[in-house]
Amino acid sequence: MGEWLWSGLSPAQAEGHACVVCGRDYLRERAHPTRWVPVGRAEGTTSQVFACVGRCADHAAARCYPGGVMVISDEALTAAGTAFLRACEVAVAATPTGDPRHAHPDAIVTATVAAAAPLIVAAELRRLAEVFDDHAQTLRRDVAEHGDLDVSWGIARAAVWRECAVITRQRAVRMDPAGGAS
Ligand SMILES: [Zn+2]
Repeated sequence: MGEWLWSGLSPAQAEGHACVVCGRDYLRERAHPTRWVPVGRAEGTTSQVFACVGRCADHAAARCYPGGVMVISDEALTAAGTAFLRACEVAVAATPTGDPRHAHPDAIVTATVAAAAPLIVAAELRRLAEVFDDHAQTLRRDVAEHGDLDVSWGIARAAVWRECAVITRQRAVRMDPAGGAS
């Protein structure tokens, strides 16, 4: 996909160490659990700029590509690239001629997809978990603010959404343990 040029960024955003959507400064939050993805370049300097994986990246993608596009995390791209190169080596070594054109393509495709897919799915699961958590919080706030709501009903519903968020995150950690550092 082509690269979007972002204008009106802060210096930290333009230098690529703060989210172009929420402004979170990645250098100041070394221990933070959020991962980030490249979402284009800064107008003027053409430095690569980033957004937090999840809603910030979704927001950035919606702005850059109104037709909709799934943002693939850097980790998944790197994993797929590494697997692709490794699979090429193995496949070429297995050919009698040593010619890459005689390598079996299925093995290369399988290795590439197997390396990248869990990371892509885990990123999407984490994004969903955020949505569930948000919904639980909204329900709890509504219960607290509006006396006319059935309190026990609201609390029970919030607990269900919270449980969904926990389960979704657990699945994400299983698929991509390194990404579940929260
Ligand atoms: Zn962000």
